[in-house]
Order: sequence, then C-alpha cells, then structure tokens
Amino acid sequence: MKTSSINKLESNFDSAILRLKEFLSIESISTDINKLSDCHAAADWVFNELNSIGFRSKKVVEGGLPAIISHGPVVKGAPHVLFYGHYDVQPANDLDAWILPPFQPDVVYRNEVKIIHGRGAADDKGQLLTFIEACRALYESTGIPINISFLIEGEEEIGSPSIENVINKYQNELKADVVFISDTSMVEDNTPTIGCQLRGFLGEIITIKGPSHELHSGNYGGAAHNPAALLVRAISKIYEDDGSINLKDFYKGVDEIPFEILKDWLKLDAFGNFYLESVGLSTASGEKDRHIIEKIWSRPCFEINSIFSGYQGAGFKTIIPSTATAKISFRLVDDQDPDHIRAVFRKHIRESIPGDCNVFFESYGSVKAVKMNCQSSEFVLAQEKLREVWGRKCVFAGMGGSIPAVSSFKKYLGLDSMLLGFSRSNDNIHSANEKFDYECFTKGALSWMLILQEMKVTPPEYEI
Ligand SMILES: [Zn+2]
Repeated sequence: MKTSSINKLESNFDSAILRLKEFLSIESISTDINKLSDCHAAADWVFNELNSIGFRSKKVVEGGLPAIISHGPVVKGAPHVLFYGHYDVQPANDLDAWILPPFQPDVVYRNEVKIIHGRGAADDKGQLLTFIEACRALYESTGIPINISFLIEGEEEIGSPSIENVINKYQNELKADVVFISDTSMVEDNTPTIGCQLRGFLGEIITIKGPSHELHSGNYGGAAHNPAALLVRAISKIYEDDGSINLKDFYKGVDEIPFEILKDWLKLDAFGNFYLESVGLSTASGEKDRHIIEKIWSRPCFEINSIFSGYQGAGFKTIIPSTATAKISFRLVDDQDPDHIRAVFRKHIRESIPGDCNVFFESYGSVKAVKMNCQSSEFVLAQEKLREVWGRKCVFAGMGGSIPAVSSFKKYLGLDSMLLGFSRSNDNIHSANEKFDYECFTKGALSWMLILQEMKVTPPEYEI
C-alpha cells in the first residue's frame, strides 16, 4: 500500500507541471540587462511558491540580482537541510534552432519520450521544482518532518558573483547539517548520480613584453627576443613527456582515488573510448596510465585556453611581435593550494624570461577543490533511496568543473553539498531545445521525498 505522502505527490503531478510551466515562462536571463524585471519576477515566483507550502521567505540583494532565503517550520531536534538552486537561465537567442519557442513551455513527446520543453526545464527550474514538489507533498500530507531552508539565487549562469557575499552575510541563518543541490546530470540515463567531488580552478592571464614595437623579421630576426617564442617555450616546459605537470610542489595534496570508487567509475560506458571519439579524437592526452574518467574527475590538469601574439589579419606580416599573451587555467583536486600554485607558476614564467623582457600577470580567480564525505548518513541514505526509485545502484561521481556556491558553503558554513541531479545528458542544457524528461521530473521528486521522509528518523548525532 502506498503511503499518503506518495499518493499526494503522484496526485499533484498534473498541477506540478502547471506550476513548472508558469515558472518556465518567465524569461529570467541573468546575463541580459533588459530582463531585470523578469529576474525579479522569477525570484518573486519562488518566494510565493515557498510561502504557499508553509515557508517564510525573504528577498535579499547583495549588489546583483535578488536571492531568496526561506525557512520551513522548526522541527525541534530534527536534521536541518539547506537546499540551494537557481532561478536564472541561459539566453535563448538562437531562435531558429528551437523547435518550439524557448519560453512557451509545454509537455510534448520527442523521440517517443515524454518531455517538458523550455529554457530552464532542466537547468535549473525543473530540477529545483523536484525538491519543492517533494516538500509540497509532505506539507499537504504527513507534514514536513525535518528543518528545511532554501537559498535560491539568480546569478548562477553568470558565475554567481554575489553568492559568496550572501552566504557570508547570512551565514548564521543558513546554518544547517548538509546542503542539497539539484543542478547536475546523471552520468548515464538511468543511473542515479551523486556528485561527491568538484575540481578547483585557477585562472591566469600572462603577457610577455619584448621589443618596444613590432620589428621587421629581416632586420631583427635571430637577434631580438621574440615574446611569442618566449611564451610558448616557458609554457611548454610545464608539460612533461609523460603527461604530468612539471611545476614544483604541484602534486602536493593530490590523493589517489579510493579503489572502491574508481571501480564504479570504470563501469560507466559513457567515459570509454566513445568519450573522445564523440569529439573527433581517438587518443587521450595527459598522464599516462590514468583512465579518462580519473583525468577529468580526480586528477589536476593545466590547459592553455588561448594564446595570441603578432599579426592576426589576412595575409602575412613578417614581424617579431612586441607582446604575447596567454590565458591559462588549472583544474585542481583534493588539497592543492591555488595560491601556492599561482606563486610557483609565476616564478617559473619569470625565471624563463630574459632580464630585458617583462612579464605581467593578471589573476582570473581561483577556488579550491571540494570533496564531500560520502560516508555521512545523508549520502548513505540517499544512495539507498535512489536504488529504490531508479532500480540501480547510485554512482558517487566526480565533477570536472567548479560550482562557486559549493565552495562557499564549505568555506563559510563548513558544510558538504550533496549534488543530486536528475538531468540527462541529452537535455540540451545551455543550448537550443532544452528539455527535462517527465520521468526524471517525477522520479526526481519521489527520490527527494523519500530521502526527506527518512531523515525524520533522527540519527544519533542529532540527539539532544
Ligand atoms: Zn544550473
């Protein structure tokens, strides 16, 4: 027999879709200055939605677009979950490529799969609603058994410039036991996935200045320092022949991934040869004897993002350029210290440049890698409930990129974030025809509800 909360959730699905369609029709494009009022409208929508299920919400602004902070009823002695998501979406300017208009959401069949169409369907409005609908069903049936707070921001798609300030300023009221986030994808279509580690980041712009102006290579070639040559030579020394990174102390703080986790990763078909073949390649770069999945989830890397110098126009200009610039980035893991690596990198470049040339550095930000404790009670419970709903073992995955909010939750609140997303790889996030599968929406909401329900059984560490 189904519990009253499951019955409630299922009987709400039709109205939940109407709510989602209403939310998706708001053009909350954070990068578009003309959509400011739409972004406020989306924030207000979240505000009202949460208040309609017994939460108290407030709108906070820390310089940019508003964020919503909201708290449910206090349940003494019960665990406290902070849910983070975002109401802003990517632009949808390539209108010709959209089968249906991006901001006219609809439930339709595509390739015989029932989908919810619309910009933001998967990233992140639909996923955000999986959690809110779980709360709604509990609120309207058995009651919400634990303490739940929300932090929903509107600047995620532009790099979350205000989120650190918001989390810092409101850290007392955002305190919880764990953060839940639904803004990621499943590694395979039906394999529930919890993100457990995110790589860190370090960005740098380097400009080498050589001669005072560009020179005729017939008159100066072979005698004057060429900044483009200096730059590529300095950078290429960082790449060892075996694919490792040759910078002092670079691997300090890098751990081996536990075999138990690696074993699960290696079973994922999506990261076999096909992963590179799908982008027109067939041989892997980087560290020898490492699997692709390790390279992108649990190993650090150094990449040249762009490099430019000299004449870029049509035809040919035989010169020695006066400057050369590169934009580079590191992806970091575990305990690697971005500040130390930046210092070592700058020292290496400086020492590679002759004394009569100059080098200028501009930081493009940095963030430490984040690793969650997958053994903690919430992660173990989630894994159990996900198997119940999806019928398959959940994978504790890594993530190659960084999420600013996750780092700030760790830094200011000391909290791990459980990244539990239900999006599929073909959801066209950030591109035309974004969708969220109806199955993912409903199973996602059910997964959250079962997790929240079980958390009501107060684990020993919460006893007062
Ligand atoms: Zn997102």
